[in-house]
Amino acid sequence: ITQLYGPLNLFGTSYRSLQKNFIDMEKMLDLFQEPVEIQDLPEAKSLTMTGGEVVFENVSFGYNPQNPNLKSVSFKVPHGKKLALVGPSGGGKSTILRLLFRFYDPTQGRILIDGQDIRMVTQSSLRRKIGIVPQDTALFNESIGYNIGYGKIGQDQAQVFDPSRSTIQRRRIQSGESSGAESSRRVLLSGKPTKPAGRGRKSKNASLQSSPETADITEGDEDADVEGDGGEYEDDEDWEDDGRIQAAAEAAQIHEIISRFPEAALDTQTERDIQNSIESISKDRTTLMIAHRLSTIVDADEILVIQKGEIAEQGSHEELMQAGGIYAAMWMQQLREDRTPAGSSHSSQKD
Ligand code: ATP
Repeated sequence: ITQLYGPLNLFGTSYRSLQKNFIDMEKMLDLFQEPVEIQDLPEAKSLTMTGGEVVFENVSFGYNPQNPNLKSVSFKVPHGKKLALVGPSGGGKSTILRLLFRFYDPTQGRILIDGQDIRMVTQSSLRRKIGIVPQDTALFNESIGYNIGYGKIGQDQAQVFDPSRSTIQRRRIQSGESSGAESSRRVLLSGKPTKPAGRGRKSKNASLQSSPETADITEGDEDADVEGDGGEYEDDEDWEDDGRIQAAAEAAQIHEIISRFPEAALDTQTERDIQNSIESISKDRTTLMIAHRLSTIVDADEILVIQKGEIAEQGSHEELMQAGGIYAAMWMQQLREDRTPAGSSHSSQKD
């Protein structure tokens, strides 16, 4: 997260199996599955983002309390560092991100952002400071908002770039069809959200990802505006047309790149440009990413192998390779798949 962008996560490219079936808007949207209703505490304050440090402290959680899906998970992502979550399907990677967004509360333990228990802050302030970015094969939709914001996810339509066809497809998110494109999800937390130069109404401009150099206006009139309106997501309706997405996209230069192609095919250079843009927006931002294509996360500061709700392994790429455990086996498996002829992997199962 951190300015995840949600995610934006650092939500790679022509890969097979692991990523192949993973795509996808559904997977990404899956992050935003209908949560139980979480209430702000009456005394909840706005999250004050100072560095974007994320801490999970003995976090346990079960969608069904009898059956924990996360068991005492602890980790820390220092400001500006990149954490990658890998592991078998169903291990709990998305659940970790959902808890970070506070779509659910842990049954035990706590989650801190810059020292603040996320249960103690308003959900609107928390989510405003978390971006999500689908990575890998850029999943750019008509509003860009799916990639830059999270507010509209689950509605409308998205366009998904499918590298196997080199076209942008329009598809309905809820259809359940898989496009075959791959993606990872990244969540980015911006250390110092600021009001980027650009258009849009003032109160809407404190974007998810903005320049870390500028002053932190988190506690300024931006929050006051939104919350003064009477609570959560008063600004959701305006998400698409407000300045935040535009500003954030522009900051990342994605907007310019996207505006070069209407519904046309993406060439290799464009795809590369998009990926570079996404790379640049995760710079200096705490980033949590779910990676199915391991080669995209070799440079992560830390990699957690999440399996059956627990951290099975933890370390850098080199350390985990050295250890010769689950991660190393996943890596070898991916290498083998990469060597298989193109096309043969399309039917293979993810993870
Ligand atoms: P993938 O790589 O497939 O995205 P993941 O590691 O992200 O998997 P999660 O989506 O976090 O795994 O799921 C962890 C566990 O929680 C799985 O057993 C899954 O079936 C279960 N789970 C996820 N969402 C729900 C839900 N809404 N209700 C009940 N169980 C759920």
